[in-house]
Amino acid sequence: LRQIQCDVAIIGAGTTGLSARAAAADAGAKVVMIESGPGGTTCARVGCMPSKLLIAAGRAAHAIRGASVFGIEAAAPRIDGAAVMARVQRERDGFVGSVLDDVAALPEDETIQGRARFIGPTELAVDDHTRVEARAIVIATGSSPTIPPELAGVADKALTNETVFELKTLPRSLAVIGAGPLGIELAQAFARLGVRVVVLDKAKAVAGLHDPKVGEVARQILAAELDLNLGVTFEASAGTDGIALRWSGDDGQSGAETFDYVLAAAGRPPNLDGLDLDRAGIALDDKGTPVFDRQTLRCGDSAIFIAGDADHDRPVLHEAANEGRIAGVNAGHFPNVVPGARNVPFSVVYTDPQIAAVGVAMSGSADQAIGERDLRKSGRARVEGRNAGLIRLYARRDDNLLLGGEMVGPDAEHLAHLLAWAIEHKLKAQDLIALPFYHPTIEESLRSAARNLCHDIQSGGVRAASLKFGPGA
Ligand SMILES: Cc1cc2nc3c(=O)[nH]c(=O)nc-3n(C[C@H](O)[C@H](O)[C@H](O)COP(=O)(O)OP(=O)(O)OC[C@H]3O[C@@H](n4cnc5c(N)ncnc54)[C@H](O)[C@@H]3O)c2cc1C
Repeated sequence: LRQIQCDVAIIGAGTTGLSARAAAADAGAKVVMIESGPGGTTCARVGCMPSKLLIAAGRAAHAIRGASVFGIEAAAPRIDGAAVMARVQRERDGFVGSVLDDVAALPEDETIQGRARFIGPTELAVDDHTRVEARAIVIATGSSPTIPPELAGVADKALTNETVFELKTLPRSLAVIGAGPLGIELAQAFARLGVRVVVLDKAKAVAGLHDPKVGEVARQILAAELDLNLGVTFEASAGTDGIALRWSGDDGQSGAETFDYVLAAAGRPPNLDGLDLDRAGIALDDKGTPVFDRQTLRCGDSAIFIAGDADHDRPVLHEAANEGRIAGVNAGHFPNVVPGARNVPFSVVYTDPQIAAVGVAMSGSADQAIGERDLRKSGRARVEGRNAGLIRLYARRDDNLLLGGEMVGPDAEHLAHLLAWAIEHKLKAQDLIALPFYHPTIEESLRSAARNLCHDIQSGGVRAASLKFGPGA
C-alpha cells in the first residue's frame, strides 16, 4: 500500500479538477490529482465539443436545404453518415488528445490513476493501492447521465452522451428522452442530418427556459422541424428491430413507433456515489449533495471543497473552470479561505436559432420590469432569412438595474454575452441603450428590447424616436 502526504488532493481530472490543480499549485501547494476514468474531460470527450461538432454538420446540411430562400436551387444534400461521425470522432480525438498531453506533462507523482473514496475527513483511499492524506481535498468528480426508469427494460440498448458519439454511422431513427439543453441540441442536429427523430419529455419546458413567452416561441420554432412531444409519459420495450416506444400526453398527443436507438438525455446527477461521503464528516442535503458555500466552495467548516458539475449548481463549462479555480485557491491556501468572484449565471443552448439565459429568471412580480423584442422584425435577421425568435430582458423597476434575460434567436450566444457583461458591470437599461450598436446587426435587437424595458419602467429620459437609427433595428 502506497502512502502519500500532500497539501491538496483533487478527486477528478476534468475541467474543474485541472483548474483546481493549477490554482492550488500556483498557491505553492504540493498537489495530487486522482482520476478513475480515461481522462480528457467530459467537455472534450463526451460533452461540449463532440456535440458542437455534430451540430455543425447538421447546420451545413440545413444551409443547403434552405438556400432556395435566396433563389439558389441546390439538390437535396446526400449525407454520408459514416463520414459525418468520422469527422466528429477525429476532431473530438484531437481535443481529447491535447488535454491528455497537458496531463501527461505533469510530474508523475502528481497524478494517480484509480477511484478515490473518503476514509476520513482528510484521508482518501485510491482503489486498494494508495492512501492519500491531504491538508485539503477538492471534490471535482463531475456528473453522469441517468437512464430514466421507463428505459430500465432496454437500458442496455439506450444511448447516452457517453456512447452516442461513438456510433459508426448515423442511425435511421432515434427517440430522444429529454427536451432539456443536451437533448434538444442533439435531437435537432440528428434530425437535420436526415435521422427520423422524436423528442419526448414529461415536462412542458423546452431547453430549460423559465420565461413562458420565450419558451413558447422556442417550442414553436423547434416543433416546425422536430417531432416534439412535451408533457408526455411513455413506455419502452425491446422490439425485433429496435426499441418500441409508446407515448401519450394530456394534450391528446400520442404515438407508437420503433426506433433504432433511444438517447437518454434526462439529467446528469453528480458523481457522488462510492465516495463514502459519510466518512468525510460533512453535511449532505436531502439529495445527498454536500452542503457548500457558493463563494468559497467549502463544505461547512471542513477542509473539503466541492466544485463543477459535482456540486450540482451550474453545470456548464466556464463555471466548472471558475469554481475549480476558487476551490483550488482556497485548498492551496488552507486554512485561509476567502470568497471567490462568481459570475452572473449564463447558459447557451446550441439549437438553431440558439437559446440563451442570463442572470435571474423572470419572477412575474410587479417589481420586475420586462422589455421584449420580436426577432421576426430584425432587419439583419430578415436579410439572412433567419428572422425568428424573441428576446425578453428583466430589470429592477426601482432603479432600472438590468437583472437578466432569456432569448431564442439568431446569434443568441453573442447577445447573451453582451447582456451578461452588462449585468456584471451593473448597467441599467438606459446605459445599455447608450452604448454603440452597429447597423445592421442582430445586436440592435438587444437595444430595442432594452428600449422597451425603459418604456416599461417609465424611466423618462429615453425617447423611442431618438433611437430609431435604421430599418429593422
Ligand atoms: C453532451 C453535453 C454537452 C455539453 N455542452 C456544453 C456546452 O456547450 N457548453 C458548456 O458550457 N457546457 C456544456 N456541457 C457541460 C460541461 O461539459 C460540464 O459542465 C463540464 O464538463 C464539467 O466539468 P467537470 O470537471 O466538473 O466534470 P468532468 O469533466 O466530468 O470531470 C470529472 C472527472 O472526475 C472523475 N471521477 C469521478 N469520480 C471519481 C472518483 N471517485 N475518483 C477519481 N476520479 C473520479 C471522472 O472520471 C471525470 O474525469 C455539456 C455536457 C454534456 C454532457
